[in-house]
Amino acid sequence: MATEVAPGVHRLGNEIVNFYLVEADGGLLLVDAGMPGFYAQLESLLRSRGRSVADIDALLLTHAHPDHVGIAERVRAAGVPVRVHDADVGQARTGKSHPREGGMLRHLRHRATWRLLATGARNGALKPVKIAEVTPFTEGELDVPGRPRVVHTPGHSPGHVALHFAQQGALIAGDALCTYNPLTGRMGPQLMPGAFAWSNDRAMDSLGRLEGMDVEVLLVGHGDPWTAGAGAAVARAREAGPS
Ligand SMILES: [Zn+2]
Repeated sequence: MATEVAPGVHRLGNEIVNFYLVEADGGLLLVDAGMPGFYAQLESLLRSRGRSVADIDALLLTHAHPDHVGIAERVRAAGVPVRVHDADVGQARTGKSHPREGGMLRHLRHRATWRLLATGARNGALKPVKIAEVTPFTEGELDVPGRPRVVHTPGHSPGHVALHFAQQGALIAGDALCTYNPLTGRMGPQLMPGAFAWSNDRAMDSLGRLEGMDVEVLLVGHGDPWTAGAGAAVARAREAGPS
């Protein structure tokens, strides 16, 4: 089920929602935590490498939305420290969302929206997850396997971040942009829909922080890896505009 999308970087999740396990520097880093139903696939990937959830050194969240924190509390309870940007700490602890830019209603005409809702229901993602203990971070390099550099990219949520793994040539962009729109079904680099976003304008501005990055692969919360460069991804997302 898991595929290696950059050296030591494994993509987990399903066709709608991704999360990633990074093997680097002899350690294990989990980036995002998918939906609650995804725990078994993480366990099985780790088992195949002779490891277990308790061996993970840290869980970093790109942001605290429900489809990115699904198994976070279970992973934390196994002894793994959970970290999120300062501005998303409240949502991580309480499960309470920030205000949103738009509504879901107008998307109910899209098949993709129903598919997302069905997947969410099947994987237990429709009720909020609260993480009992989270440690905040801000910008800069983090002392965890892979030594990612945190780039604050507010918009999708106030504390949204992208994580740059220079050694692996990978940027885990989270939901700063996506390559599959989970509400409209549209493919290709674009902003996540406003129905989930704190601010479309801020999200659009934050793209500027990613566009000059030199990476082999851009990995997102929703959709397939993008290998044609960060600059091209950002240009496509600007062209597509908000949804
Ligand atoms: Zn998401």
